[in-house]
Amino acid sequence: TTTVVGFIGLGRMGAPMARRLIEAGHSLVVFDARAEAVEHVVAAGAQPADSPAAVADAAEIVFCSLPNPKIVHQVALEAGGVAEGSKVRILVDLSTTGPSMANTVAAALAPRNIAWVDAPVSGGIKGASTGTLAVMVSGPAAAIAEIEPLIKNFGKVFNCGEQAGAAQVVKLGNNMIAAGVILLSAEALAMGVKAGIDPAVMCEIINASSGRNSATQDKFPRAVLPGTFDFGFATALSYKDVGLCVDEGEALGVPMVGGSLVRQMLAVTNAKYGPDSDFTNMVRIIEEWAGV
Ligand code: NAD
Repeated sequence: TTTVVGFIGLGRMGAPMARRLIEAGHSLVVFDARAEAVEHVVAAGAQPADSPAAVADAAEIVFCSLPNPKIVHQVALEAGGVAEGSKVRILVDLSTTGPSMANTVAAALAPRNIAWVDAPVSGGIKGASTGTLAVMVSGPAAAIAEIEPLIKNFGKVFNCGEQAGAAQVVKLGNNMIAAGVILLSAEALAMGVKAGIDPAVMCEIINASSGRNSATQDKFPRAVLPGTFDFGFATALSYKDVGLCVDEGEALGVPMVGGSLVRQMLAVTNAKYGPDSDFTNMVRIIEEWAGV
């Protein structure tokens, strides 16, 4: 059945997810702060709206895919935000924003009869385009049941329960690991290069051995070894994710020794290459320090 679906935030991840909903036959009403991001999705068949509130005036279910918790909070609750919409019943956050903001916004929306669902995603631009993301969800069971058929258009659903923010905790843990293995893989491969070993061969061997990970299997072959350093995930976003993870771990009384190191490596990458640089630029810093 066709549903009017709202979509706010049409960036690297949002645009392909929105496009897959359109291709599945849904009517999309969309908003982004950047006009060119809106134009691309409108060209694919979506209707533009003037604000998050206007999206929420048109659709009962609204998705957002936005950079960070501050912006999601603003888009949900501030002037012109989703909470002001007349039609919206469910707001789904596809962004990686952490459990703290999720709890705040869920509590603020509940009295307005708007259900909040966390739905952070993993699998990158490729996963979003091909509909093979892992989508972790948490929130009211009835709301999850209602949005599941929509989410299935871009990924596989993993239910983390009713507690707001639960899926965000899982996602933060995942992203800390994904960033951490880039650092360790970069150190191992820099060592190999200095010892005269072809890094592509070394990657291949690691991928058949116990050190295999998402950096050696995907990021190095695709974005590091060819020297493009363009995997599709911004340094600012990874720095945000690992920071949120370390903060959450500490708040729960978990020592975050490795996570703190990775967070500072991303701080260095952010300072040297800028927030919009790709997070695989972390490898270039190791190469520079190693003199590779
Ligand atoms: P992006 O920067 O490409 O897209 C974010 C979009 O939000 C942009 O189009 C921007 O114009 C828009 N935006 C910013 N502020 C806005 C506002 N106030 N109102 C409306 N629109 C606004 O980022 P992305 O890579 O698509 O990531 C989006 C989210 O998904 C982030 O939370 C990120 O951590 C997460 N994520 C990204 C990836 C990835 O591989 N890129 C993978 C999984 C999860």
